[in-house]
Amino acid sequence: MNLAKFPRVRLAHLPTPLEHLPRLSEHLGGPEIWIKRDDCTGLSTGGNKTRKLEFLMAEAQAEGADIVLTQGATQSNHARQTAAAAAKLGLDCHILLEDRTGYNFDNYKYNGNVLLDHLHGASIEHRGPDLDMHAEMEAVADGFRAKGRRAYVIPGGGSNPTGALGYVNCAFEMLYQFVDKGLNVDHIVHATGSAGTQAGLITGLKAMNAGIPLLGIGVRAPKQKQEENVFHLAVKTAEKLGCPGVVAREDVVANTDYVGPGYGLPAEDTLEAIDLFAKLEAILLDPVYSGKGAAGLIDLIRKGHFKKGEKIVFLHTGGAIGLTGYLHCFDVAK
Ligand SMILES: *Cc1c(COP(=O)(O)O)cnc(C)c1O
Repeated sequence: MNLAKFPRVRLAHLPTPLEHLPRLSEHLGGPEIWIKRDDCTGLSTGGNKTRKLEFLMAEAQAEGADIVLTQGATQSNHARQTAAAAAKLGLDCHILLEDRTGYNFDNYKYNGNVLLDHLHGASIEHRGPDLDMHAEMEAVADGFRAKGRRAYVIPGGGSNPTGALGYVNCAFEMLYQFVDKGLNVDHIVHATGSAGTQAGLITGLKAMNAGIPLLGIGVRAPKQKQEENVFHLAVKTAEKLGCPGVVAREDVVANTDYVGPGYGLPAEDTLEAIDLFAKLEAILLDPVYSGKGAAGLIDLIRKGHFKKGEKIVFLHTGGAIGLTGYLHCFDVAK
């Protein structure tokens, strides 16, 4: 496989650091915990979407687009990173934001990612819950095309085979870092949502025959659906890369026990994970994705699923700017 044959525009600060978390490891008394800092990809406070956008935005440019469209939840990290990438490349950006939480707080509606969307000059439309957001976006894109614009549509989360290439690249990057540090990793864990991160990672790991299992901690869909989504995207990504069939259905594992009340709604263990990472390691997690991924990691360590002597890498997918939209979850004024 040869990633270099796909158009790519450099947007991320790579490689992101791979760091040991000694105080969290000691506190939990289980495996050695390491963190892959994709919260440090650098584009407008960083996050995992930037790796996907390196390939997506290059495709948009190759197709001669003058405007990119995407969609996500109100506090979408993907929308914010897309708006930032578009600004950097001189393209217009139009975003559809879906109200999935019903939160009516000003800081949820306007702070965090929404503030940054605005600063990067994106135009924004809002939608209520339970619509087919992809169909909504296609309809809006057709409106732009009717006015003569060259619109490039990026799916929610940037999760299609082009975007997933960014996480194939991350798998290669991590495997190199593991060798470099002499780190024999037993498991990689991360938050999984629109599936592109997990699909790209598993495709890269399997194509390299790494033998390192990958666990996605779900933030929205039930287990079966999440795994099917990841598997289907991994199959298509492997085909695009010219290595069809490298990913088997059983390579795709998601644990969806940490979703809590629903997408974008933190559970008690989400907030505990945010608290532990902040106080023990000065690492900021977010209430929608990485906080839930870390809650899963912590609980699976406490239950003995990940054991002493093992080495676990938690992929930090970013999102901490969203904390400012979730003031109501923290007793700051107390
Ligand atoms: C989008 C996102 C994820 C999930 O990645 P997918 O590729 O959508 O599965 C995880 N963490 C953060 C912070 C995100 O913004």
